[in-house]
Amino acid sequence: MSEAWDDEVDLLVIGAGVAGMTAALVGALEGLRVLLCEKTDMVGGITATSGGTIWVPGSSQSVRADVPDSSADAARYLASVIGARGGEAQRAAFLEAGPLALDDLEARTDVRFVAAQAHPDYLGNHPGAAFGGRALGPEPFDGRLLGADFDRVRPPRPEFLVLGGMMVARTDIAPLLKPFASRANLSQVVRLLTRQARDRLRYRRGTRLVMGNALVARLLHSLRRQGVPIRFGTGLAELVRQGGRVVGAVLEGPAGRRRIRALRGVMLATGGIAWNPVLREQLFPEAARPLSLAPETHTGDGIATGLRSGAALDAEMDSPGLWMPCSVLERPNGTRAVWPHILLDRAKPGLIAVNSTGRRFVNESDSYHDFCMGMLRAQETAPSIPAHLICDRSFIRDYGIGLVHQGTRRLAPFIDAGYLIEAPTLRELAGRIGVPPEALEQTVAEHNRFAETGVDEAFGKGSSPMNRFNGDAGHGPNPCLRPIGPGPFYAVAVRPAELAGSAGLRADGDGRVLDTAGQPIEGLYVGGNDMGSIFRGTYPGPGTTIGPAIVFAWRTARHAAGMTPAL
Ligand SMILES: Cc1cc2nc3c(=O)[nH]c(=O)nc-3n(C[C@H](O)[C@H](O)[C@H](O)COP(=O)(O)OP(=O)(O)OC[C@H]3O[C@@H](n4cnc5c(N)ncnc54)[C@H](O)[C@@H]3O)c2cc1C
Repeated sequence: MSEAWDDEVDLLVIGAGVAGMTAALVGALEGLRVLLCEKTDMVGGITATSGGTIWVPGSSQSVRADVPDSSADAARYLASVIGARGGEAQRAAFLEAGPLALDDLEARTDVRFVAAQAHPDYLGNHPGAAFGGRALGPEPFDGRLLGADFDRVRPPRPEFLVLGGMMVARTDIAPLLKPFASRANLSQVVRLLTRQARDRLRYRRGTRLVMGNALVARLLHSLRRQGVPIRFGTGLAELVRQGGRVVGAVLEGPAGRRRIRALRGVMLATGGIAWNPVLREQLFPEAARPLSLAPETHTGDGIATGLRSGAALDAEMDSPGLWMPCSVLERPNGTRAVWPHILLDRAKPGLIAVNSTGRRFVNESDSYHDFCMGMLRAQETAPSIPAHLICDRSFIRDYGIGLVHQGTRRLAPFIDAGYLIEAPTLRELAGRIGVPPEALEQTVAEHNRFAETGVDEAFGKGSSPMNRFNGDAGHGPNPCLRPIGPGPFYAVAVRPAELAGSAGLRADGDGRVLDTAGQPIEGLYVGGNDMGSIFRGTYPGPGTTIGPAIVFAWRTARHAAGMTPAL
C-alpha cells in the first residue's frame, strides 16, 4: 500500500543552480505548479561562484553585439572537436533550441544576455571556431533589487573578491590595474570604488553583481516574480517510483521527511559528481581526486539517487571531468585559499610549466581544461602533479602569478606561506621544487630561444587565437612568449581540480533520464552537471557547461509542460 503524500506539484526541481532555477522558472512560465528545493540556505551552487559565461551558438544576442554567429559553423566545429564520441542527437537539440531559449528567457524574465565581441573558442584551430559572438555573459545585476533575498545568493569565491567584497568583471580588470591609462579607465574605477564604498556601509559584500552571481541573482529575481516557492535547507532523500515511473520524491528538511508528489516529473539538478567519494573513486583518475571547486555540500546526490533508480551512467567520454589547474595557499589559521589559474597568468609571455623531470609537458596557454589534460597525460610517464609554473620577477610585476597579483611588491607573505617558491638561480629553484637542475636550465634556455623567434617548436604556446587572446597583445612577435630571466626565479605548484563533472546521468534531448536499456524513465529529468556532458568530456569554449545547462533546462520544463516537441 502506498503512503500518503504531504504535498503535490506538477514539477519538482531538486537543486537551485543554473539548471534547476532555469527549469523551475520556465516550468512556472508554462503554467506548471513548481517546487524548487535546495539543500543549502542559498541558491546558486557552483554557478554563483563561476564566470557565468554561456556558450550558445547562433544567438540573436550575437547579432545585437555586431558579431553574428552561426549554428551551422558551430555544428562543424563540434563535429571536428568531438569526432566519434557520440551525443550527436543531444547536440543537435542543443543547437536548435539554444537561440530560442535565450530569446524566450529575455522576453519573459529578468535574465539578460550579452554576447562578447571577443571571447574565442578554446580550440580555435578547428574549422567553424568562433572568435566572438558565441560566448555570452549575463548582464550585471544590482543585488539591492533583491532586498532580503540578496543574502540568499551564494557569494563568489573569496579569492575573486577585492576591497572587502567587490566583484571584478573581466572588463574591470584592465581599468583597475591601470586606472590612469585613460579617462575612461579612471571614470570606471571611480564609479566602481564609490559604489563599493557605499555598499560596505550597508551590505556584507558589494551589490554590483557580475558573472555567475549576476546570472543567479537574475534567475532568483525572476523566480520570485513568478511566485515559485523555494524550499531552502531541503534536500533530496529518495525518489518515489510506481511501476516504471518516478511519481515524486522524499525530501528531507526542517519539517522532517516529506513526500512530494510530482505529477509531471522530478528534475535532478544537484551540481554533478563534485565531492561524492564513491563516484570520484569510480570515475576520476587518482591524481584528480583530491581537489574539487564545488562547495562541500555538493555530494553527488542527484547522480547517486538517479543510479539507484535505474538510470544509466553516461561516462564513456574523453574525460570524466573538466578541470582547472589550481594552486593552494595554506594560511596559518588552518584555512586555505584555492586559486584557479583560469586566464590571468598561464598564457602570458614569460611563464612555463614543468613536471618532475624539469621539462615542459603542455602548451601553457591552452584552456585550463586542456592544460590539466596535459598534466594528467604526463602523469602517466612521470610525476606531474603537482606541476610547477615557473617565471621571473618581471613576470610577477607585469602579470602576477596566481594569488600574487600583478604588481605585488611584498612577496614575503607568499614565500613564508610556502605558496611562492623563490631562488636566485634556476639551479637553486630546481633544488627547491625537486627537479633535476640541468633539465630545468635546459628547458628555460630552449624556451628562451623560442621566445626570440616567436615560435614555440615544442608545444605551440601562442599558436591558437585563444592562446594569443589571453597573452599580452602589446608583446611581439608572439604575445605568449618572452625570455625568462634574469633571476630571481619563482615557482608555484598547481594541481588539477574539477570545475564540473562531465560524466553524469544519460539523457535524451529533452533532459529525460534514460535507463540502461536506453529507454526514458518516465517522470525523471536531469540537468546541469547531473547530466552527462553533450561535449563528451571535451571543452570547446567558454561557457561549456552553463550553456547546455540553460538550454536543456528550458527544453525539460517545456517537455514537462506537455509541449512536445519542445520547440
Ligand atoms: C571557478 C569556476 C568558474 C567557472 N566558470 C564557468 C563559466 O564561466 N561558464 C561555464 O559554463 N561553466 C563555468 N564553470 C562551471 C559551472 O559553474 C558549473 O558547471 C555549473 O554552474 C553547474 O550548474 P548546476 O546547475 O549543474 O549546479 P550548481 O550551480 O552547483 O547547482 C546545484 C545546486 O543543487 C544543490 N543541491 C546539491 N545537492 C542537493 C540535494 N540533495 N537536494 C537539493 N539540492 C541539492 C546545491 O546546493 C546547488 O545549489 C565554472 C566553475 C568554476 C569552479
